[in-house]
Amino acid sequence: MPTIRNVIIIGSGPAGLTAALYAARANMQPLVIEGIEAGGQLMLTTMVENFPGHRDGIMGPDLMEEMRAQAQKFGAEFIQGNVASVDLCSQPIAVKTEDAEYGGKTLIIATGASARLLGLPAERSLMGHGVSTCATCDGYFFRGHNIAVVGGGDSAMEEAVFLTRFASKVTVVHRREQLRASKIMQEKARSNPKIEWLLGYEVEDIKDLGTGEVSTMVVRSNRTGERKELPVSGVFVAIGHTPNTSLFRGQLELDQNGYIMTHDGSKTSVAGVFACGDVQDHIYRQAITAAGSGCMAAIDAEHHVDNIPEHLASV
Ligand code: NAP
Repeated sequence: MPTIRNVIIIGSGPAGLTAALYAARANMQPLVIEGIEAGGQLMLTTMVENFPGHRDGIMGPDLMEEMRAQAQKFGAEFIQGNVASVDLCSQPIAVKTEDAEYGGKTLIIATGASARLLGLPAERSLMGHGVSTCATCDGYFFRGHNIAVVGGGDSAMEEAVFLTRFASKVTVVHRREQLRASKIMQEKARSNPKIEWLLGYEVEDIKDLGTGEVSTMVVRSNRTGERKELPVSGVFVAIGHTPNTSLFRGQLELDQNGYIMTHDGSKTSVAGVFACGDVQDHIYRQAITAAGSGCMAAIDAEHHVDNIPEHLASV
């Protein structure tokens, strides 16, 4: 029989770590199962300049290390590795990793979302060195540069328009001749004189020419096979996000895109199960909003534990 924890937190991005900090300070002795990509999406970024309290910016991985250490200082316990399965109907809630089983009076899901990537080797190696999946986070670094946005949906249009505030020129590269984005977003992008279009082109490679920073993007026409080399210093991949919810499918209410539905703060469709961060937010997707919702989830979990009837509290 596993020992029963007041709260188990799955995920260790800004949402999970803030939930851990608040739960630890509420004397809930949280157990955090960090996940394979411990630290979440910020581990893939370089300088973060929009996290309040860091006037000179902070490197994404350093911010996550600080947050983790802060939660640990107040008693959060961390386990490396991944959750293999959960049973949200059992009482306590059962959480299994590859080699152990845990029981939680409450569960906070902070498994985040993963930005979809094109699958090019250079994409990962140059992530944070010209390749980005977040215009709001990184656009500022491309003042006066030529950059490319990949994708044809609303996110790509939104990012392209946003990036024209900084870049001299933004080229949208999309694999089909037709955009998927809504009419209104397309019109906004099409009427922006700083945006150029390469429709019907696939990205074949991203090169750094030995500099360690993006310098060229190679694209190929899907119609003619013709190749072009674009001199760009930034490539924003905006081909959508996938919420990390496969563990919970069939056990929790998800929206049509697979994001966890929350109500009244961080509550989910199962009592005692709370969700925070990008796994339940496809709109804001910022470190600070994730952290804020992590705080909410910890407070909601604490209230839940406080209100468990005495005869069930030891279950
Ligand atoms: P999306 O609508 O799924 O669009 C993804 C785009 O990326 C599509 O154009 C797709 O091409 C392309 N793509 C996907 N995989 C690719 C690959 N492997 N290689 C090349 N291109 C690839 O995703 P999204 O734009 O992130 O939007 C997600 C949801 O959020 C949508 O419902 C959207 O309306 C909403 N959203 C709304 C707003 C807003 O209203 N302000 C802003 C952002 C997002 P194909 O078209 O060929 O499939």
